[in-house]
Amino acid sequence: STFADYNFAPFLQQALAQIKFTKPTPVQQQVIPVINAGRDAVVQAQTGSGKTHAYLLPLLNQLTTAPVVQIVITAPSRELAYQIRLAAEQLLQPAAHTWKIGFYVGGTDKQHQIASLRKQQPQIVIGTPGRILDLLKSQHLLVNTTQHLVIDEADMTLDMGFLNDVDRIASAMPAQLQMLVFSATIPQKLQPFLKKYLHQPQNIQL
Ligand code: AMP
Repeated sequence: STFADYNFAPFLQQALAQIKFTKPTPVQQQVIPVINAGRDAVVQAQTGSGKTHAYLLPLLNQLTTAPVVQIVITAPSRELAYQIRLAAEQLLQPAAHTWKIGFYVGGTDKQHQIASLRKQQPQIVIGTPGRILDLLKSQHLLVNTTQHLVIDEADMTLDMGFLNDVDRIASAMPAQLQMLVFSATIPQKLQPFLKKYLHQPQNIQL
């Protein structure tokens, strides 16, 4: 299959051409149709498999211009969150200024983030669980409009002790949320969380 099969919005096709991606990776071939179908998913995939674009492409394709949070992506480290933001910015580049990314990780200027959130909510949130939860608890970040939640590196999120924060973030979102969990391994300790939030998830293993 090729990216043309997915009928992505023109800005995404342009971005794919710019970054010279010609063929979806195996994880992308499996995940993109599942996300497009609106299903929840647990995806066991390693870094390097193309997992970031496997969720970014079909989710960014569904964005509307409404100035409300639509997609939230959590990562267990600032570095991973930063990589995800870079990939998202590259994909949004041909549609520059149409959508706003809120990037919330520890060690960054919270007052600046609060001032910006008072003016406008971003459509896309990328960050680490602690800072996202902080902004949510203080009611600066409004996630009750979220349609898609991606938990990247769920196993690492659990290991770092952040799963409880992710749970609190998810519990502030609508019940009909699409939840997508990406993880190198699916540890037993993740199961209660998965059972609580996922509805008939598609399990994808590569
Ligand atoms: P990830 O597994 O998301 O960390 O991605 C690993 C690397 O593969 C990143 O540098 C991506 O930019 C790159 N990549 C992802 N999808 C594709 C693709 N379809 N074609 C070529 N490179 C890709």
